[in-house]
Amino acid sequence: MALSAAEPESAWRVLPELQRACQEGRLALFLDFDGTLAPIRDHPDEVRLEEGLKQALAQAARRCFVAIVSGRDLADLEARIGLAELCYAGSHGFEIRGPNGLRHEFGEQAVAALDRFEPELRTALAGLCRVWVERKRYALAVHLRRARKAEAETAAARVRALAADQPELTLSSGKKVLEIRPRAPWHKGAAVLWLLDHLGDPQRLPVFIGDDITDEDAFRSLEGKGVTVLVAEEDRPTRARYRLSDPGEVARFLRALIADCTAEPAGP
Ligand SMILES: [Mg+2]
Repeated sequence: MALSAAEPESAWRVLPELQRACQEGRLALFLDFDGTLAPIRDHPDEVRLEEGLKQALAQAARRCFVAIVSGRDLADLEARIGLAELCYAGSHGFEIRGPNGLRHEFGEQAVAALDRFEPELRTALAGLCRVWVERKRYALAVHLRRARKAEAETAAARVRALAADQPELTLSSGKKVLEIRPRAPWHKGAAVLWLLDHLGDPQRLPVFIGDDITDEDAFRSLEGKGVTVLVAEEDRPTRARYRLSDPGEVARFLRALIADCTAEPAGP
């Protein structure tokens, strides 16, 4: 099936089904962070979770499973959201941590390859002052958001040439970012399926909301299994079945979902 076989419908159409699953305690919410829960900024450090949405997520976690699945480093992601009751999958799912001692890492052997490659990459990009290299435990991210077009193209060409010589690593690109990651059959979708298996309840209804190219892996993994929502202002080829336009609409959607499913039941 082609990616754009059918245009995604508005996610509001599926809200009642999600509310029902939430009320029955069988909803599993998987949420990307940047560009989904919070608007993208020039620098990743400037991205913040709005306080009202943070409280809504805390409320949701009392009723259903909530995981934040992001390309960010796990420690950064946990610190930025700051809710101990949520599960976190950082570095596109290579590192998972959650309540009740949940802790899992995939592809630890690749950390040494990233360690070896990091100085080579930094040296190659040293002269490009608007290009910023970020080391995550499971990735090297080359941020191009602040770079002018020519500088971004030079950086991308250098990164591509260097990464081609790294048999243990692979290059992927996101929104104004290039990422060198372990060459492993692991991605956000695999992490979501691993977490669902870990939860061990076949009645769970998984929902994944994300805006980036790497979220397509999760959309593909949940085909026929759950509800997939692309965050995008305009149509683009996607595996997601539903769409919301931007982080503002995601927040309104999540609040509507959570307000309903966390309503206190009538007293005894
Ligand atoms: Mg994103």
